[in-house]
Amino acid sequence: MNTQKKQGRSTTAIHAGYHSDPQTGSLATPIYQTSTFVFSSTEEGARRFAGEEAGYIYSRLGNPTVTVLEEKIAALEKAEAGLAFASGMAAVSAVLMAMVKTGDHILGTKGLYGCTYGLLNLMKDRFQVDYSLCNMTDEASIRQMLRPTTRVIYVETPINPTMELVDLKLVAKIAKEVGACVVVDNTFMSPYLQRPIEQGCDIVIHSATKFIGGHGDVIAGVAAGPKAIMDTIRMTSQKDIGGILAPFDAYLLIRGLKTLGVRMDRHCENGQKVAEFLHKHPKVAIVHYPGLPQFPQYELACRQMDGFGGLLAFELKGGMEAGIRMMNNVSLCKRAVSLGDVDSLIQHPASMTHSVIPPEEREKMGISDGLIRLSVGIEDVEDILDDLETALSFA
Ligand SMILES: *Cc1c(COP(=O)(O)O)cnc(C)c1O
Repeated sequence: MNTQKKQGRSTTAIHAGYHSDPQTGSLATPIYQTSTFVFSSTEEGARRFAGEEAGYIYSRLGNPTVTVLEEKIAALEKAEAGLAFASGMAAVSAVLMAMVKTGDHILGTKGLYGCTYGLLNLMKDRFQVDYSLCNMTDEASIRQMLRPTTRVIYVETPINPTMELVDLKLVAKIAKEVGACVVVDNTFMSPYLQRPIEQGCDIVIHSATKFIGGHGDVIAGVAAGPKAIMDTIRMTSQKDIGGILAPFDAYLLIRGLKTLGVRMDRHCENGQKVAEFLHKHPKVAIVHYPGLPQFPQYELACRQMDGFGGLLAFELKGGMEAGIRMMNNVSLCKRAVSLGDVDSLIQHPASMTHSVIPPEEREKMGISDGLIRLSVGIEDVEDILDDLETALSFA
């Protein structure tokens, strides 16, 4: 739990949740690579099962290495409690399944992460939990879409690929009035740059695969929120569906979090410079980056976020062909999906992630044929700019 008072975010990321192991003095968090825990007596086992005594039982129900990560996430997100999962989608599904039942309604941001959209469809078809999607950029459109059965307002901000923002304080205020719970997928920002719970939202989810791990070597998810809700999730959808995080993966995320602050500062610095470079480039029609004064919600970005992050998208004037030619001529930037790694990753939605969607549909989602999504890494920015300059000369 968050016991830090006025500690800075980087200090919290490094120290929260772990005090060097009292027996050995180990500075690094030990990896408890164990499936089960030995009880000193039958009575002790009985007390743990009855919940009368704290202590570990079996690693699907809790593991000391994973606990350290959960406490770090709670402290960073200013939440009462945190939970760790095998993937971002395990976190999303465990949270949503614990919060809704047949007949309930979920209101989500238009353009949601593809697999979250898939999950909403599964829950609608199989469990009659209805959903609707709304761009949530103004109060009237949110209110219009609410129903008496709306249990959850599910938000992604910024959203892929247009980087459109949702005003978290506004959504939290509306949700309170109607008794709904606000769940925010905070993956694009990390807790270093945006803390939705401070803005009045209830639950935060991350694909920890991205900025939290930061090194492109682990798939994981986390959630944070009120202790009562996190306890319910831990004892229901997490325990019984079982998408828990392995101790070694928890260790990798703990290690990743120790550099979260310096990484995010560099992602922001490089992201800004790359956005400004692209904005001036003659082959680029538009750049979507919240840190550009031309960005339509620049003021909201300044108010709600502590930095503009490393993600951006831009449209090439030359459309599909230009997109493919540019993508084939990058060398430092790696052609790959995912985001938030120390390595710069570039992808072309029209020929890759969104190629199965008909062009007219893609256009409605803000994904033109010439749109390129770039996750700016923490390499020397001059080298990223050189690589983009060369690739763009082929576009
Ligand atoms: C990657 C991602 C997810 C899914 O996370 P996994 O770790 O791949 O399961 C969910 N939401 C957003 C915004 C993502 O970028």
